[in-house]
Amino acid sequence: MSQANLPKGQPNRRSLLLAAGALASGPAAALNSAKGPAIHESRKRPVMVGSANALRGMKTQYPRLLEGLEPLDAAVEVVKVVEADPNDMSVGLGGMPDEEGRVTLDAAVMHGPTHNSGAVGALENTVHAVEVARLVMERTDHCMLVAQGATRFAKQYGHPQVDLLTPKAREVWLAWKESMSGKDDRLAPKKSQKSGKLYEYMGEKWTLEQLISDQRITGTIHCSSLSLKGELACCTTTSGLSFKIPGRVGDSPIIGAGLYCDQEVGSAGGTGRGESAILSCASFLCVELLRSGMSPEEAGLTVLRRVTAQAQRASAWQPEIVRADGLPAFNLQLYLLGLDGKHAGVSLFGTSAYSVADEEGVRHVPLVALHAK
Ligand code: ASP
Repeated sequence: MSQANLPKGQPNRRSLLLAAGALASGPAAALNSAKGPAIHESRKRPVMVGSANALRGMKTQYPRLLEGLEPLDAAVEVVKVVEADPNDMSVGLGGMPDEEGRVTLDAAVMHGPTHNSGAVGALENTVHAVEVARLVMERTDHCMLVAQGATRFAKQYGHPQVDLLTPKAREVWLAWKESMSGKDDRLAPKKSQKSGKLYEYMGEKWTLEQLISDQRITGTIHCSSLSLKGELACCTTTSGLSFKIPGRVGDSPIIGAGLYCDQEVGSAGGTGRGESAILSCASFLCVELLRSGMSPEEAGLTVLRRVTAQAQRASAWQPEIVRADGLPAFNLQLYLLGLDGKHAGVSLFGTSAYSVADEEGVRHVPLVALHAK
């Protein structure tokens, strides 16, 4: 039902927000406010935290955050750098396609001061999915648009229609398709026909065989920021799991799964196996554990312990979800930023890094792994 068709007097999300604002600013604000006392003190020095691939964008945006840039503006600009980069095969232009060769993007933004969010799922032909997610937040009464609706919406707001499947991503997708089965009509090239070409993925060189191995290509960019005024915002954007079933949407556009922020407490986001972040409400749980007084590292590792236990339970019907030693057969990274500026990056496995920008510089910091290899 459109807003114009709403029965007279029926509140919609926008009118409720306006009413809440009016209440909060009126004389009875203290009595009527559902907001408890701020339990975490904000510090007045900006901080940005995000996935390893957020570093490039942070280098240009952190100085602007120091000058007073709004936290959502800063976070969005950070992730747009990777969305526009055809060489990053996990986000935006050049992202890996679904099993039919279509690149579909998921993205979301969340704004602490207004506790509002916007998201798109399975968006096509649009480089800056994060900007479309922001339009959903700012120019609609909704939290999420998906598939053709999201794509048409992006077009209406003037986003250029672009073929996101780069020649490189097409080659990798075709190689995957040709190697799927010996029982279909597609033939994989003979060894002698393979070029030995190397493909750049997540800053490293990979062979075609590595890119289509059992370890599916994943990758996403998340950025949380805390501004000079102590305001929080975050965003996450991705092309999702490579060769996914058409229509699959991961955690990245789901509030509470791939990202979450609460102006009273902190912000969090994740990359890695989206299904595990959805099933554990990972980002929401990170923020709620921060609220309970845990440090960012403790909170992140507690969520990953739960993810491990959930995978072990799921292995009763999906044995391949765990390895032979009973630990998850996938990875999940979580990035946490408290209102006090404290932060952590944690992962189930591995020794990789997360990006941080604060008064100590813009740099990579090692992730804390829950499980040794
Ligand atoms: N979390 C993303 C998804 O599941 C993928 C990734 O981060 O690698 O869609």
